[in-house]
Amino acid sequence: MSRRYLFFVKAVLVALVLATAPLFVVNWILNNHAASHAYFEMERMGERYVQRAEDTISETVSALQRLDRDNVQTCDAEDRVLFQELASSEGAIEAIGLVDSAGKRMCIVPDQKLTGQAILPMLRQDGPLVGIGMLEREYLGARAAVVSWDLRNGYRLFAEITPAVIAIDPGPDFIRSYRRVELRLGADLLWYSSGGYSSQENDSSNTMVANIQSERYPLSAMVVAPRSAAIANIQDLKVISAAACGALVLLFVAIGVWYSWRPENEAHDDFAAAIRNGEFIPYYQPVMDIETGKMRGCEVLMRWRRPNGIMVSPGQFMAYAESTGHIFDMTRSMMLQTVDEVGELYEENPDFKLSVNLFAGHFKNREIIGDLKRTYENSKISFQQIVVEVTERYPLEDMDLARKMIAEMQAMGLRVALDDVGTGHGGMAYLQKLGIDIIKIDKMFIDNIGDDDSSTTIVDSMVELADNLGMGIIAEGVENPDQIDRLRELGVTAAQGYYFAKPMPASEYIAFAHKVEEDLLAAERKAADEAARAAEAAEAAA
Ligand code: C2E
Ligand code: CA
Ligand code: CA
Repeated sequence: MSRRYLFFVKAVLVALVLATAPLFVVNWILNNHAASHAYFEMERMGERYVQRAEDTISETVSALQRLDRDNVQTCDAEDRVLFQELASSEGAIEAIGLVDSAGKRMCIVPDQKLTGQAILPMLRQDGPLVGIGMLEREYLGARAAVVSWDLRNGYRLFAEITPAVIAIDPGPDFIRSYRRVELRLGADLLWYSSGGYSSQENDSSNTMVANIQSERYPLSAMVVAPRSAAIANIQDLKVISAAACGALVLLFVAIGVWYSWRPENEAHDDFAAAIRNGEFIPYYQPVMDIETGKMRGCEVLMRWRRPNGIMVSPGQFMAYAESTGHIFDMTRSMMLQTVDEVGELYEENPDFKLSVNLFAGHFKNREIIGDLKRTYENSKISFQQIVVEVTERYPLEDMDLARKMIAEMQAMGLRVALDDVGTGHGGMAYLQKLGIDIIKIDKMFIDNIGDDDSSTTIVDSMVELADNLGMGIIAEGVENPDQIDRLRELGVTAAQGYYFAKPMPASEYIAFAHKVEEDLLAAERKAADEAARAAEAAEAAA
């Protein structure tokens, strides 16, 4: 799978995580909100039950107190007319009458058969004036309640409260269908109950219970409902939030797709394809011996040959290749090409050197040593012909490792050159620590060598240093014959630059090498001929 597809899959996975995380969070918030909203409603429901029961009891008690105050305290016909009037005017009161100290009815209005059954407990001297009890009669889950008022003469006035007052169900629909309500008097005298839901049947984690206690009477309401009922109520919201998260997934995936296919990645992929297609090729720039005029070898410089024929210089792609790590493949491929292209030339000329450029990253691990072995071991170019160039321009991260790797290369027979000397970080420290064989003086100093004293001094001291440390020296960027004269005077014996040749493809480089050899031979022959002619002339003169 290509990098791009891997990246794409990763982007989609990240998008899914990014989009589903809010789904869970929103779900959690909605559930909690729904539950606390439902609980609030349940409390309000319980409060309304308690409130209604309290009001009914209070109204009934004050009605009975009024009768007492007005001396309506007997079962006489006169009083019973007043009972009747009150029962009709007070909506909550169904019947009014009198009970004896044993709690048995003595009379009741409207008229009913007296059963002789106690409807209230025995009268106690120290008991409260108001009493509340329950009858067996029931209506829609509510039992009829009895409120009594002690007349302090052994008798009590009583009123029966219609269950219908209590059995009105308040509260929102979504709870009403699932909840159970219980209104109790004292600890366990059930006045009203409604709804089938029971907390025992369900696990407690799914049950919400609201308990409301009356402050006026021993009266309490309990509302029980399943959490799931509350949550079911917000199903619509959940569908909306799921849809929103779905939209978010699409958005994130779209961003992911754009991200993995954006132009920068395009460049990355183009570059990788260019490596596979062998578009990165070696150019060769001769290094000359300025004492003898012979060729010493070359430096290999990379070029990008685009399919349209345009040749791109390393300045335009090297930084990118190094930062992306593509340079490792590119260097490997370029070295392999040198064997194919100039192997024969090097086999015929064992003195020729081939310089390969490495960058700081190559000295972070030993991989390059394996690459060099695989490429040149048993090839037509021997290890003794290879020079590895390390630039001084950028710092080496792990000096100890670099030192060890250089020593290992030298043990194989390779030579190591320090490139761009005088421009960068290392200076003297690099030369000593790394165990360099050759220094390459940067073009910057060669440019001004004729007319700038300080450049001359620098080159002069480099030559001296190289001599003292037993190192070779190469001048870079030589462009005119004056520079060569100056370098000769300073004791530099090797140079490289446009004056001799620009970097060129293998075929031209091979032709250049042959031409240098032929020219030298021709010059030798010419010199020999001249010498012979001079000798002849001398003989003839003699
Ligand atoms: P460098 O290693 O210092 O290479 C010398 C540069 O100077 C080359 O540029 C060469 O064409 C140029 N040059 C040589 N003689 C003259 C001259 O007389 N006048 C002028 N004006 N220029 C001259 P090029 O080929 O463009 O390479 C630039 C840099 O790119 C190289 O500098 C090197 O640092 C890097 N490079 C090139 N090939 C590779 C490679 O295969 N691997 C690595 N890691 N870096 C490379
Ligand atoms: Ca170089
Ligand atoms: Ca250089």
